[in-house]
Amino acid sequence: MGASIGGAFGAGKVLGNEGLGKICAVIGDSTFLHSGIGPLIDSVYNKGYSTTILLDNRITAMTGQQETAGTGYRINGEPSSMIDYEQLVKALGVKNVRKVNPYNIQETMGVITEEVNKDEASVIITQNSPCMLLRRAKPLEKFNSSLFLIDNEKCRGCKLCLEINCPAISWQAGDGQTKDGHKRKGVVFINQEQCVGCDVCTQVCKFEAIVPGVK
Ligand code: SF4
Ligand code: SF4
Repeated sequence: MGASIGGAFGAGKVLGNEGLGKICAVIGDSTFLHSGIGPLIDSVYNKGYSTTILLDNRITAMTGQQETAGTGYRINGEPSSMIDYEQLVKALGVKNVRKVNPYNIQETMGVITEEVNKDEASVIITQNSPCMLLRRAKPLEKFNSSLFLIDNEKCRGCKLCLEINCPAISWQAGDGQTKDGHKRKGVVFINQEQCVGCDVCTQVCKFEAIVPGVK
């Protein structure tokens, strides 16, 4: 959020070496444009070491969904210039700039672990990750994958997949058990009208309970 980069920089200064490997700021791209650039300059210039994760979702996600200088369109829909975040943060002096595919959890976590352990400022940019509510992102075409379903015979109701906060996944309470006899307090449900086939939920389920459905 807006205060994250300054807060992370300050936390690093207070904690010193103790904070190494633990401090990370998370900020959306539109917020970065209006209140993140100054604190990032401050962090680099004053030798902070925190990592900034820049969520490049090409929209003002939570506060209006209006266009910004990062979307390539003006507020009246007219095409315009589009910020290149990699070039921008390099111009601010950040030497460690990484790009990740946020739909690949293992890759993303690996890069975060490497960067938070560095003793200088770094920025991780989520690439090719426009908000799924943005119509021009065409999520179904982007993933070109099957939509996913829950196998009720395997779902143990562990709720791990709920932690990714996908709007298509919801909880259905009710005692029951899996086919192989594990007791559970409920199962999850995937709304096919909302699933875009991004495959993130299957990466977190340890029980192979999320399976491809229709394409
Ligand atoms: S689908 Fe998998 S991760 Fe989700 S609640 Fe069921 S067992 Fe757990
Ligand atoms: S595949 Fe993606 S969109 Fe579909 S339910 Fe899983 S996390 Fe949600």
